[in-house]
Amino acid sequence: MVNCNNKLKRHSGIRKNHIILRLITVAAVIGLLWYCINGLDFNEVSPEPILSVGTGSFNVSSAETKKNDTDETSWSLILVNRWNAIPEDYSVDLTELSNGQTVDKRIYPALQKMFDAARADGIYPAVVSGYRTAEKQQSLMDEKIAAYKTEGYSASQAKAEAETWVAIPGTSEHQLGIAVDINADGVKSNGSEVYKWLKQNSYRYGFILRYPPSKTKITGVSNEPWHYRYAGIKAATAMHEQDLCLEEYLGEKN
Ligand SMILES: [Zn+2]
Repeated sequence: MVNCNNKLKRHSGIRKNHIILRLITVAAVIGLLWYCINGLDFNEVSPEPILSVGTGSFNVSSAETKKNDTDETSWSLILVNRWNAIPEDYSVDLTELSNGQTVDKRIYPALQKMFDAARADGIYPAVVSGYRTAEKQQSLMDEKIAAYKTEGYSASQAKAEAETWVAIPGTSEHQLGIAVDINADGVKSNGSEVYKWLKQNSYRYGFILRYPPSKTKITGVSNEPWHYRYAGIKAATAMHEQDLCLEEYLGEKN
């Protein structure tokens, strides 16, 4: 009887071990699946802010883009031009690009997505100017005025000419952080290829050609085929389809 009891005890002990082993295996499989699913999601929506705009690439999930598109109208449609200065309490949360330029972190996913799409089409753009401080904008203005003076313009003429090319500090979209000057990388693409691609495709990613040649009187800025500004996919698509500049789209009369 004693032997028999020991045998039974040992047997039930082995069964218990089997059950525990199975539970551990199931838990491990569930854990692995969870990691795969969530791990991939995490990589897609929260890439390290690396800023491969200009050099590398990563994927931005459509969920992230959609999320940005629904609660973005208050900031993505802000009108800044020579008649509308940036609000004094405006603050910027920046992300640094791989080449040292910075942009508002809210436009970064769309910007990266647009660059990835361009590269997939064999076009190689580069952000040559993103966010600017008021001081930087002032020094650009001073340089431009000096250049016109060197060409023989009077002080007032030089200032007037410069202001058609460089925004008066406080009125530059670059100070918002949601505008970028995009040129070619200078190796695989040239400027006209990049400008053409951007003009045809940027709206799909929420960017608009901010100063088209046909709208200079309304925007107050000369044709700048390199200056793109984020407005959100919905607004950018409407402006692209109806050939409207931002001032027209917002119904502003200057
Ligand atoms: Zn610009």
